[in-house]
Amino acid sequence: MHKIGRNDPCWCGSMKKYKNCHQAFDEKLEHFRMQGLEVPEHRLIKTPAQIEKIRESAKVNIAVLDEVADKIRIGMSTEDIDRIVYETTTKMGAIPAPLNYEGFPRSVCTSINEEVCHGIPSPDIILKDGDIINVDCSTILDGYFSDSSRMFCLGNVSEEKRKLVQVVKECVKLGLEEVKPWGFLGDMSQAVFDHATANGYSVVRNIGGHGVGLEFHEDPWVGYIFQRGTQMMMVPGMMFTIEPMVNMGSHKIVVDKQNGWTVRTKDHKPSAQWEIQVLVTEDGHEVISY
Ligand SMILES: [Zn+2]
Repeated sequence: MHKIGRNDPCWCGSMKKYKNCHQAFDEKLEHFRMQGLEVPEHRLIKTPAQIEKIRESAKVNIAVLDEVADKIRIGMSTEDIDRIVYETTTKMGAIPAPLNYEGFPRSVCTSINEEVCHGIPSPDIILKDGDIINVDCSTILDGYFSDSSRMFCLGNVSEEKRKLVQVVKECVKLGLEEVKPWGFLGDMSQAVFDHATANGYSVVRNIGGHGVGLEFHEDPWVGYIFQRGTQMMMVPGMMFTIEPMVNMGSHKIVVDKQNGWTVRTKDHKPSAQWEIQVLVTEDGHEVISY
């Protein structure tokens, strides 16, 4: 890393001298790095100006999900949801991040029942009484990214599916409570994992969350099967998603061979996911998108 002088401007863009800004912070990071702990690089630490832009992007993302929450109903196709997402996002001057992302053909992911994630909206997929569906929205505004997803229960959802949806929401809340500076991503991960497994569920292992803000998917990769005190250290300015995928049956999943995107549970049992985008602050955390 390029060595900054004490009186040089800080790398964070604050215009303050390094010694009055992030020097002590960097020394602390270096101390932990020397102990063999995983600490974030500067590029993963958002500046106040970047955070403000990402918050604006998230306002759109939240508004889009609110619009979906208002309109979603039985008999609608998942393409109807896609249209709501595209129109609401573009009306607010933003771009749906999934559209054309690595060839993804729609503006949102809609994953129903045994679909774990990356369901592709289609005019042929009609929402039925008793379905549970995850709607995963991501927004680009002025080049800044936001990302969150919610579950919706349609009509007479069985008690066991309703409980799965509720427990995964609790997992995210319990994980969030562990997000604080100088803790570890593993602290959050274990809180999620313990609550899911205590309820008899399994946690998807090799798909997870991610850093987000300046890119759609940044480091670190964020899993929900790790132990307390492991994984990357959380430091102020880091931003990532908490988005566990929790299965009623086995953790095993398969990717749709035809479309190459949609992930389903191998045993065809239901799966649920909630996602929030969170910022690590000086004294805890701030939920950026939900
Ligand atoms: Zn600084």
